[in-house]
Amino acid sequence: MARRKILIAGAGLGGLAAASFLMKEGHEVEVYEQAPQLEEVGAGIQISANAMHALRTLGLEGAITKAGVRPGAYVFRLHDTGEVIQRFSLSEEHERLHGAPYTQLHRADFHEILAARARAFRPDVVRLNKRVTDFTQTADGVTLNFADGSSAQGDLLIGADGLKSVVRKQIVGETPATYTGDAAWRITVPIERLPKNFLEPVMSVFMGPGGHVVMYYLRAGAMLNFVGIIETDDVRDESWTVKMPWERLKADFAGWHEAIQTVIDAADKDKCYRWSLHNRPPIRNWSTARATLLGDAAHPTLPYLAQGAVMAIEDGAVLARALAMESDIPAALQLYQRNRIDRTARIVLQSTDNRRLFHLRSEAEIRAEFARRDEGKDRNKWLYSYNPITVELR
Ligand SMILES: Cc1cc2nc3c(=O)[nH]c(=O)nc-3n(C[C@H](O)[C@H](O)[C@H](O)COP(=O)(O)OP(=O)(O)OC[C@H]3O[C@@H](n4cnc5c(N)ncnc54)[C@H](O)[C@@H]3O)c2cc1C
Repeated sequence: MARRKILIAGAGLGGLAAASFLMKEGHEVEVYEQAPQLEEVGAGIQISANAMHALRTLGLEGAITKAGVRPGAYVFRLHDTGEVIQRFSLSEEHERLHGAPYTQLHRADFHEILAARARAFRPDVVRLNKRVTDFTQTADGVTLNFADGSSAQGDLLIGADGLKSVVRKQIVGETPATYTGDAAWRITVPIERLPKNFLEPVMSVFMGPGGHVVMYYLRAGAMLNFVGIIETDDVRDESWTVKMPWERLKADFAGWHEAIQTVIDAADKDKCYRWSLHNRPPIRNWSTARATLLGDAAHPTLPYLAQGAVMAIEDGAVLARALAMESDIPAALQLYQRNRIDRTARIVLQSTDNRRLFHLRSEAEIRAEFARRDEGKDRNKWLYSYNPITVELR
């Protein structure tokens, strides 16, 4: 297999994972990140078996398991009474069915684990303070240009620069982002502020009219993660760092289940963040002869299936395999893209559809919908059962 020099724009979860998959195959990799420091904000992230298969090949399963929590089940509840409407097993059953666990961990911990792995391959793999502005390509390679006036050369470029990707803009042009009508509140609460045996260690979704709440534990149960989605016309930025008044959060979930009130009451009042969720329809091409995309840059998604970062990890693993199988770079990028387009589009569309499912207007509608569907069976069949390391690439 030919050893390539690969440039990656963005040291987020997807860029760092891809860097390690590629260095493991013997490629020379440089990751360019705009931030002055390598750090992650945000809160919880869920890693299902379909990503864990790939992370395992990097030797990371132990570190991820140690930093995280394995939830017992995925539980759908009514927003006010908390009554369980449907439940599917995640712990032993997920591992038995798919051969890898389902883990929930803090994004910062996950990012640190991925960065340490990449730096173990190459200590200077991440170059900070390097904001990518654009790239040029020839038949032989790419040049990546930075805001500080410098540039870097490589055989190919991977745009892993997230939702507002400049590499995507250059490859596919402007793509419309439509405000969904939803904003995502995010808080984390140390467990000692909550009553003993507060909520069972499961992935809980409280479904209400015009909103839903997701709660699960992080850091070996030491922290509770809360994401509260609410429909609102007040549109702000798509960002983990937009703070909003605690009083707004409290008002948005007035009348919801007492466990939700307990968590909101225990939150740090100056650390309530709100992300305005935008939707972007799937695209059918994200590569040129020498450049491609992965993660949110390629297929931004709503978080309603918890698969955004998971897809980014799948992408990196499949891209490394495609480059090992196909020595011609344009053909390898096509092989990668061809094998990722349909799956990622399906996840994006299903995530969008889950907005409807989680925001049904009445208890009767929720009961009728869940009487018709078996979420666990469905997801086990097509979503969690994918393995990016063994799936046949065609
Ligand atoms: C509320 C919420 C909950 C979520 N929960 C989950 C979950 O449970 N499970 C899950 O799998 N996913 C979840 N996601 C989605 C997940 O966060 C994203 O899909 C994931 O972070 C995408 O990773 P990425 O590496 O593609 O992009 P990012 O993590 O956004 O990383 C992009 C990187 O590129 C850098 N960058 C950007 N522009 C430039 C530039 N011009 N030059 C250089 N560097 C640049 C950025 O600074 C950043 O470091 C959630 C999302 C939200 C909003």
